[in-house]
Amino acid sequence: MQNNRVHKNIALLGSTGSIGTQTLDVIANFPKDFKATYLTGNNNTSLLLEQIRRFQPKGVVVSNEKSAKELRKQLGGKTEVLVGEEGLLEIVQRDDVDIVISALVGFAGLKPTIKAIEAKKKIALANKETLVVAGEIIMPLVEKHRIDLLPVDSEHSAIFQCLVGELPNKIEKIILTASGGPFRTKSKAELSKVTREQALKHPNWTMGSKITIDSATLMNKGLEVIEAHWLFGIPLDNIEVVVHPQSIIHSMVEFVDGSIKAQLGIPDMKIPIQYALTYPSRSRSIFPRVHFPTLSEMTFFEPDHENFPCLQLAYDALREGGTIPAVMNAANEVAVAKFLRDEITFLDIPKMISKAMEKHTNKANPSVEEIVDVDRETRRNFQ
Ligand code: NAD
Ligand code: MG
Repeated sequence: MQNNRVHKNIALLGSTGSIGTQTLDVIANFPKDFKATYLTGNNNTSLLLEQIRRFQPKGVVVSNEKSAKELRKQLGGKTEVLVGEEGLLEIVQRDDVDIVISALVGFAGLKPTIKAIEAKKKIALANKETLVVAGEIIMPLVEKHRIDLLPVDSEHSAIFQCLVGELPNKIEKIILTASGGPFRTKSKAELSKVTREQALKHPNWTMGSKITIDSATLMNKGLEVIEAHWLFGIPLDNIEVVVHPQSIIHSMVEFVDGSIKAQLGIPDMKIPIQYALTYPSRSRSIFPRVHFPTLSEMTFFEPDHENFPCLQLAYDALREGGTIPAVMNAANEVAVAKFLRDEITFLDIPKMISKAMEKHTNKANPSVEEIVDVDRETRRNFQ
């Protein structure tokens, strides 16, 4: 049966999100190659319903029994409707899934990603939080089950592409580019007054609200440093961040001979999503191209650690290891949610995270269960 199949079956976790909807756009361009077999939409049932009508998946997952009941009524039994984390863990293991796209936001992505690895699925990973909180567990698991873990994050896709055909021991350093976010040039006094609406306006990318705030605080780059460390096995001291406001160079790798490779393209997540799906091949796309003569400039700056302390917090968390990265991640999720509800100021975000990290008694080599406990405890303490 499996061998006669022409297309690859995809379980798209987080289909109603920014990465999820863009992934569906990519899938729609390759109807013979990919099929959206399972979709998951948490509590956005109206968008999920639209997606079901358009992509005809076999099954979907929603957050609770009530939404599931409503959806089942509307669908008349044609599509299987599963519920909650259990539903997510169930679909990623199914035989009729070839690729799992892990595009939930936040800590919720961890367990389904682990289950997908254990079920030996090819994984396209957008959910960076999985590697932030449990990289030490995830990477050996990937090796043990011999699966492909392909980065979707644009910087990591860039590095991955720069490394094709290269030997790991010839890498000198990774240079992660950062847009710097909407507040790059603001003073501390100005930062103390920025609003949620201003923070949600990213200059180059349209993304989910959590990662957009993370980009404004530079925590996103911190999470990406940790993600890069685990994905590519590069020591922290050999990962550099450079601010590049135009987001044309998506990241670079410097080799031992001083040669540097960079991957460039317009800032459009559909490009790295498509590469993760078609790797090791490439497929023609109709996305706009970079036109160098009209690119007025490409500029580069040191990150401003003074005004954006989240980046340093992430370096500190990775250096300490153990359960500290999970504390940092949970405190960040809580702080961002509070900022989005107008309960704290922009500058309170790093303060809250730093406080949570200071208060925590670190534990080395945690198990997944211990990481889950630390995540829960941190949320409880800082809610
Ligand atoms: P988003 O908020 O737009 O979408 C998140 C998706 O996850 C939605 O479908 C939502 O319904 C679902 N979801 C949220 N919480 C859930 C929970 N507790 N249980 C089950 N489902 C849940 O987020 P996004 O911007 O698409 O980001 C997704 C991931 O990809 C994040 O880890 C982000 O850091 C990463 N990423 C995003 C971009 C981007 O351009 N958006 C770029 C690089 C990396
Ligand atoms: Mg990124």
